[in-house]
Amino acid sequence: MVNDKIYEFKKAFEGMGILDSNFKSELNMDYEIYRPNNEIISVKFTIMENLYFYAYPKLYVETINYDISREKNIKLEDIFKGRYKERLESLALKYADKQSSYDFSNFIIESDKLVFYFDNIEKPLTVPYSTVKNYLKSSFLDLESLETFLVEIDNLPDIVTSDDIIDNVENDVEDMTTTRIITPDKPMVALTFDDGPYARATIPILDTLKKHNVVATFFVLGNRVPKHQDIIKRMVYEGHEIGNHTYSHMQLTSLSKENIKYQLDKTQETIFQVAGVEPKIMRPTYGSYDNKIREVINMPMILWSIDPQDWKVKNAEKIANHVLSRVKNGDIILLHDIFESTAEAVEIIVPELINRGFQLVTVSELYEYNGEILSVGNIYNKVYK
Ligand code: ZN
Repeated sequence: MVNDKIYEFKKAFEGMGILDSNFKSELNMDYEIYRPNNEIISVKFTIMENLYFYAYPKLYVETINYDISREKNIKLEDIFKGRYKERLESLALKYADKQSSYDFSNFIIESDKLVFYFDNIEKPLTVPYSTVKNYLKSSFLDLESLETFLVEIDNLPDIVTSDDIIDNVENDVEDMTTTRIITPDKPMVALTFDDGPYARATIPILDTLKKHNVVATFFVLGNRVPKHQDIIKRMVYEGHEIGNHTYSHMQLTSLSKENIKYQLDKTQETIFQVAGVEPKIMRPTYGSYDNKIREVINMPMILWSIDPQDWKVKNAEKIANHVLSRVKNGDIILLHDIFESTAEAVEIIVPELINRGFQLVTVSELYEYNGEILSVGNIYNKVYK
């Protein structure tokens, strides 16, 4: 029954799939299943649409909540009573980007909380049941497991947002005293992340890198920088390299020289305004370039030597296995910090690379410590000796 339901939804979303290699359009759909108890199944679909005519990839979440014994979808009205909308709105207003109204229709049900996803807000809103206790319907409370949970979590903080997580990280950063030592004759590789920042993936990736005292290179999109200033500053503070991945993920080969320049310059400017540093390297979108681009772009262009296709695979273990079964001294590894599955893969990849004796360095360090100079208009994808 449950599987049928998932299959049905999977099929519906797959039906929407567009994959046209000529135009580099992508539609990726990932799903996570939550089982707060035996009666409820909650499914979260994370969808990324990157159609060739979009300025940048669209990322959004759709959810489905199903009551197995009643064989029907669960709506907010099945969970809440009274003036719950006002309560949810006040929680939403407190937590993030102010909106004139919030659409609470996308949410998942966990055993201790509801998590709401909004279209134009990247951070989900977490609502522990304890904060909306008086608005919960008794029929919902009667559900096995929820009731016991409510009693236990009474003294939780009022609301938990990812801002709190960022604040904590910033405090940690202040007492960061570890320095990295690079030994030029020992093996090294560069992890690179494209298309971010995206809080739900970039922050856990930064946490993993910090935990292991290693660095990476983030080829960011200029148009994602203003919204993620804290993340950009953190990258710089923690020693990562920031690269330019254009302003709005345009296919550069299709643009005029002026527009190519605009895509690059606008990104340089935006990053400089936020972080006080300017990228020294760039990665062309879709890895595609031609002579026109080589002439116009006044930076070295960085491609890669290992591509686990994390945007397609969406499975942490498979991504990690792809990388770990191929990695050699001098490799540049391509990943995307817009998927939670990639963030999980990084948790596997980083300690294992360290375990095998690799030093994890930025792209610029990889070339510098191998005695190679990156020059304008050239393409680089690895350093094999
Ligand atoms: Zn990209």
